[in-house]
Amino acid sequence: MPKRKWREIRPSYDTAGYFKQKILRWVYQNPGRYPWRTAKIKFHTLIAEILLQRTKAEQVIPVYKRFIKDYPSPTAIVVSPLSQIKKIIAPLGLRWRARKIKELAATLKNRYRGEIPLHMDGLMTLPGIGQYAAAAYLSLHNNKRALLVDSNIVRLYGRFFGFRVHAETRRNSAFMSLADLLTPHRECRRFNYAVLDLGRNICRPKPLCPICPISLKCHYYNYGKEQK
Ligand code: SF4
Repeated sequence: MPKRKWREIRPSYDTAGYFKQKILRWVYQNPGRYPWRTAKIKFHTLIAEILLQRTKAEQVIPVYKRFIKDYPSPTAIVVSPLSQIKKIIAPLGLRWRARKIKELAATLKNRYRGEIPLHMDGLMTLPGIGQYAAAAYLSLHNNKRALLVDSNIVRLYGRFFGFRVHAETRRNSAFMSLADLLTPHRECRRFNYAVLDLGRNICRPKPLCPICPISLKCHYYNYGKEQK
């Protein structure tokens, strides 16, 4: 089957429905057990999104646990020396994040009285919070509809629907229209967890197709390895 161009992406009702139904069931049966997913304090989920930037989730777990134990609130961060925050997140590298976390805590405390905005525009004014982190915070931790796209999700969509992807694909309007079409209004949290976990754990660079829940209709699996 020939490769298609992004502007030709118009999955049939059946294919889109199959994709959604299968991955929603899969994530229900295979919930990712990460501590920030059950965090009781919303501020901690925002911290997790900063720690997860360019870092594997498994690496973040022990640092996150130590961090929220030492810093239960924005105020605790504001009064802490920057050097202490740097020391805790040092195992993750990217030590500039310590300064961003301190700026974030100060902004929340001073400008928002400790409350976290619940809309994209407000979130993206916060230090250290870009489009992805804002969408993750809204959808994964507040069940509000937001399109979540990272490199793993781009690869998953590209393989399943049969399109070549590259670093700029996530800025492609046709690709974002596809993400918009697929992302449900209800169950957005579960859907985004599903594409996140499936892209990261199953549709890896070396994909685990034999155990993938959507292999039956996957373009890559059924029509040859045209995608990278
Ligand atoms: S069948 Fe393979 S290539 Fe297709 S979505 Fe699943 S893991 Fe990815």
